[in-house]
Amino acid sequence: MIIPKESKLTIEQLSTVTAIVEEYDCKLQVIVGHHRSVYAVLGEERKTVMVNRILGLNFIDRFDAVDSPFKLMDSSSELAQHKIVLGNHIVGEGPFVIAGHCTIDPKNPNLFIESAHAVKEAGAKAIRGGVWKPRTMPYSFQGDDASVKILMEARSQTGLPVDTEVMDEHQLRIAVEARVDILQVGARNALNYSLLKSIGQMTQNKKIAVLLKRSMGMGPVNEFIAAAEYIAAAGNPDIMLCPRGTNPTMDGYRNYPDESITPLLKEKTWAPVIVDPCHSVGRAKYVASAALAAIAYGADGVIIESHLDPQRGIGDDPKQSIQPAVLKQLITDIESIWAIKNRTVIADN
Ligand code: PEP
Ligand code: MN
Repeated sequence: MIIPKESKLTIEQLSTVTAIVEEYDCKLQVIVGHHRSVYAVLGEERKTVMVNRILGLNFIDRFDAVDSPFKLMDSSSELAQHKIVLGNHIVGEGPFVIAGHCTIDPKNPNLFIESAHAVKEAGAKAIRGGVWKPRTMPYSFQGDDASVKILMEARSQTGLPVDTEVMDEHQLRIAVEARVDILQVGARNALNYSLLKSIGQMTQNKKIAVLLKRSMGMGPVNEFIAAAEYIAAAGNPDIMLCPRGTNPTMDGYRNYPDESITPLLKEKTWAPVIVDPCHSVGRAKYVASAALAAIAYGADGVIIESHLDPQRGIGDDPKQSIQPAVLKQLITDIESIWAIKNRTVIADN
């Protein structure tokens, strides 16, 4: 990775560097960071002659070759300084709670808007709402393009960033054009490398973050981080990792809860971890404990399905959404665990 002396390269400097790396069959990917841009060399980046030529340029500060398969997502990467800013919040500084309906019901937009206000009141920092849904059965409600408007109305009324899942390029285009703040890659698509690349390319430089769910079948931690690397290598480093339970399930829960993977992720990568306890346990009454466990494990936040009237919801809401009053108490408890956790970290040092 090439780090310039100034906050970014000029157009002429960029074309000089690009020409050099291309001579050595590498590609240059600009990664626009919060404070400065860095330039990832994609390909075999350890060619000594290439590195020396780049280091010889008077506008280059450093060339960091990361000793890891994850050049961008590894904790030792220059991007470890990178901060994801969503609304008024820097992810990682205080618990980041995303909350709202599993699914937006296009026939009842007001209910979604009212829930959005209620979760904001409860202390959520962003709002979730499924516009398009990956459903097990083709006959179940699949979502509706029209719900994007409802999601964006919630954004303008509450002033909070919004999150929705995209499953294909058509949905991706609509969501990017609407300026959705967080694009969710669902568990079923976490290994869809073409989609991951398209998302990285189409969200590059647009201040749109990606919440990458862990797939139900994902085994090693590295497979999860590699999926994130695809998005970053395509141009967008604003990635949050989201454990959401795996298969086979734990008897009684919807999936096998995996918030305990958080410290392992945090050791290997700098990406924030936002745990999804709702899809993990699948029942409203277990959600709060799983969310608190996630924070105790060091997660940067949680994504929670929350609905004013879960029984009138669609998709997962009747089973696993918690009411905003319960969310409010949960967020207070999350703040307490967060404080204890930070105190522990200080004591450990
Ligand atoms: C969801 O967030 O509603 C969802 C479908 O999640 P997952 O992809 O984790 O199943
Ligand atoms: Mn859901």
